[in-house]
Amino acid sequence: VLSKLPNVSNSIFSTMTALANEHGAINLSQGFPDFDCSPKLIDLTQTYMKKGLNQYAPMPGVLQLREKIAEMVEKQQHAIYHPDKEITITAGATQAIFTAIASIIRPDDEVICFDPCYDSYAPAIDLCGGMVKTVSLLPNSFNINWDDVKKVFSHKTKLIIINTPHNPTSATLTDADMKQLIKLTQGTDIFIISDEVYDKVVFDGKKHISVASYPELRERSFVISSFGKMFHITGWKIGYCLAPEKLTVEFRKVHQYLVFSVNTPVQYALADFLMDESEYLLLSKFFQEKRDFFVNALRSTPFEILPASGSYFLLANYDKISDKGDLDFTKELTVNYGVATIPLSVFYKNRLDRHYIRFCFAKKHETLEKAVENLARIK
Ligand code: GLN
Repeated sequence: VLSKLPNVSNSIFSTMTALANEHGAINLSQGFPDFDCSPKLIDLTQTYMKKGLNQYAPMPGVLQLREKIAEMVEKQQHAIYHPDKEITITAGATQAIFTAIASIIRPDDEVICFDPCYDSYAPAIDLCGGMVKTVSLLPNSFNINWDDVKKVFSHKTKLIIINTPHNPTSATLTDADMKQLIKLTQGTDIFIISDEVYDKVVFDGKKHISVASYPELRERSFVISSFGKMFHITGWKIGYCLAPEKLTVEFRKVHQYLVFSVNTPVQYALADFLMDESEYLLLSKFFQEKRDFFVNALRSTPFEILPASGSYFLLANYDKISDKGDLDFTKELTVNYGVATIPLSVFYKNRLDRHYIRFCFAKKHETLEKAVENLARIK
């Protein structure tokens, strides 16, 4: 058999963005901003390109950037990561997630993932011969029932993958969740991947809760984040992985043969850009305004919106509009109403379809306004 991933086809993000483009629809599907990043960041990148910093970066990343990340993480999570031994710059969070999985998963190892979850985890586990063990998030809050996690634990459990703030549900984990995770993993050799790409986007005065802040979790965790999400540069594909030295050693063994190193001038530019904390401290407020504007406008439509506590996504139920499956419904919405979204069922291992769609609200107010105008035409 040729395919190592026989059940994988084009990702829903490519599919819906292509459909949006084909029909000239407003694209609230794939998660990327429709506004530009800071011109300062572009100028800085250009400056470093003109300075001739255009060759390979050091394998783990440009040291200045790793130092700035260490400072940011210390301020925000009160966690100390050694820039040289515990921080690696990656080509986005996707590469970091793949690298972390590949560095620890062997055939038949079991990995606990939640349903729904981000789409890149399972294929990476499959490619390493690992087995995905799924735990359903609670149906309405999308919180974790830790007793359900206990039930799938076995002597083969090697890794648990969490994601907070959560894509696609916008739920966030709490201090109580972290304490449960500590209880569950203490005395075991289980590793954790904590996907925290939306760590700077948490609403309603809440604080981002990171595994990095809990020494018992920090010692077994790869903490992954993305500058794509932080600075509106999803197309630059740059992120990082924090992990204690013994895990970073293994991580870098894979990293050096997967990509060796990533974009040099961008790393220098980000190191300078990170000197101004306000560039990321204001993000939650920035996106909360968008969330509130969008949620308020959506009241003129028949969608039922779920609460969103972090990330730039929100979920909407369309039971009052249609009884179609969510994939067909999102296609119809794109073609007939000019608004592209993502069907929630694609994030479930078992394709559970509860008639929810995911909106990305990382868009200009005028884009959100136009989208709602279109959606308000639905009877
Ligand atoms: N993370 C983005 C989303 O959830 C998309 C990334 C991608 O296109 N693979 O929409």
